Amino acid sequence: MLPETDFDVAVIGAGVSGAVIARTLSRYDLSIALLEKEADVSFGTSKGNSGIIHGGFHHAGSYLKTRLEIAGSRMFDNLQKELDFPFKRCGILVIALREEELRHLHHLFSQGQENGAEDLELCSRERTLSLEPKLHPDVLGGLFVPAGGIIEPYRFVFSLVESAVKNGVTLVKKFHVRSAVSSGGHFVIQAEDGRNLRVTYVINAAGLYADEVSALFGAEEYSIRPRKGEYYVLDKSTRACPGRIIFPVPSGVSKGMLVVPTVEGTVLIGPSAEEVREKDDLATSGDQLQRIIDSARNIVPGISESDVIAAFAGLRPSLEDEDFYIAPSEKVPRFIQVAGIQSPGLTASPAIGEYVKDIFEAMLKAEGGTLKEKDDYDPFIDKVPRLRDLSAGEAAELIKRNPAYGNLVCRCEQVSEAEVLEAVRRGHDTLDGIKYYTRCTMGRCQGGFCTYHILKILKRETGLEYGEMTKRGAESPLLLGEL
Ligand SMILES: Cc1cc2nc3c(=O)[nH]c(=O)nc-3n(C[C@H](O)[C@H](O)[C@H](O)COP(=O)(O)OP(=O)(O)OC[C@H]3O[C@@H](n4cnc5c(N)ncnc54)[C@H](O)[C@@H]3O)c2cc1C
Repeated sequence: MLPETDFDVAVIGAGVSGAVIARTLSRYDLSIALLEKEADVSFGTSKGNSGIIHGGFHHAGSYLKTRLEIAGSRMFDNLQKELDFPFKRCGILVIALREEELRHLHHLFSQGQENGAEDLELCSRERTLSLEPKLHPDVLGGLFVPAGGIIEPYRFVFSLVESAVKNGVTLVKKFHVRSAVSSGGHFVIQAEDGRNLRVTYVINAAGLYADEVSALFGAEEYSIRPRKGEYYVLDKSTRACPGRIIFPVPSGVSKGMLVVPTVEGTVLIGPSAEEVREKDDLATSGDQLQRIIDSARNIVPGISESDVIAAFAGLRPSLEDEDFYIAPSEKVPRFIQVAGIQSPGLTASPAIGEYVKDIFEAMLKAEGGTLKEKDDYDPFIDKVPRLRDLSAGEAAELIKRNPAYGNLVCRCEQVSEAEVLEAVRRGHDTLDGIKYYTRCTMGRCQGGFCTYHILKILKRETGLEYGEMTKRGAESPLLLGEL
């Protein structure tokens, strides 16, 4: 058993919620541990979603999630300057294909205005088609939300964590919180492998498992219900890529099946919405594919099955009342719940960080403490040039300075060896970690060409044997023999 280590705060879960909370608190004079059970950060719900920065019109203002969505969305422009993640405000278009759906658009418009969403526009059929010519010709009208946008969700989380670590946060990966004991004003948290941490405050941001973590600490009882969303990814070469994020009018349980032009040029179609029993049920199915394709073609008829290059699923960590549950525990002192963070959790995340900081500050004050800002907090992380973003001239200059930019590892996504090296040097040592950092393996060949090259670089840089390399942690070995 390892010796106990002391921290002021432990944040449990390094998805977008835990990452943004750790980064927000890293502005202050505190020792913070960010605990994650997986081999890398953002391997939970934060990697499997639509990546949309929502427009604040889908839900009533009485929900906490709506207020944080509006506030969070406004913080993204500044965050991008600090954290250099792919982000574009391409706008959202909700479309009506039937008369009764037009009435629903009016409802979403008024709801958005009441919530404080800016620049909403109800559009005629002609205006809707001029905003997005690839729509179904039967479209009757639309709601345009120019502030809506898209990001690469995993890159956002990686950047948040990098920034938190730069400002003193200790990231502890493969730390699966399994038990906790409270005594004498602190908690001793134990991981599955026997490691211990001694901390004064705990923030539970464990996503799908927040209910189980709450139970470990003897805090509130509640139940997180996983709701699966399946997606299909269309190749960059598809002719059906819209310029805006296209929503149908929402159904009772979800925002409907969308057509999303990702920030890197592929297209997502989906997600479905299906209650499932298991919190690790990420299976995709041919039946859903057909349903998703049919729904997406209702919106953008040019979508073709032959454009599909990949499928994935994500699980919404929903609570019965469908709202976020962010509050100090009423049962366990110095314990904060951050649960039920389903959509729009990504959009709301920057505001979740500030909201939790305020709760934490109030807790400290009640105990006679204060939150002191650090003098040396640095919100910026080091930017890594991406070959695919550069002109031929810029690339040539960069290759002169760093020849590893001239060695192409992933042809489909134009990723150089220098970018893979940077991923490994920044601690991403699984195939998925490198994939989400660089986009290697995400193109049409789905890793057929580049996986071999990535593994060779990983061996050279880390000394890992091929048999020790994994897709996403110990339970997913990649190879049994040598290459
Ligand atoms: C299909 C789908 C589509 C979505 N689309 C959007 C969208 O377009 N826009 C938007 O704003 N939001 C969207 N969302 C919502 C968004 O993805 C989530 O709100 C957000 O990712 C939740 O982040 P989180 O950090 O709370 O949870 P997670 O990302 O799940 O992070 C929790 C972390 O806790 C770790 N953990 C769990 N138990 C333990 C333990 N015992 N010890 C240590 N670590 C532990 C997990 O491994 C995980 O990494 C979507 C969600 C889904 C499923």
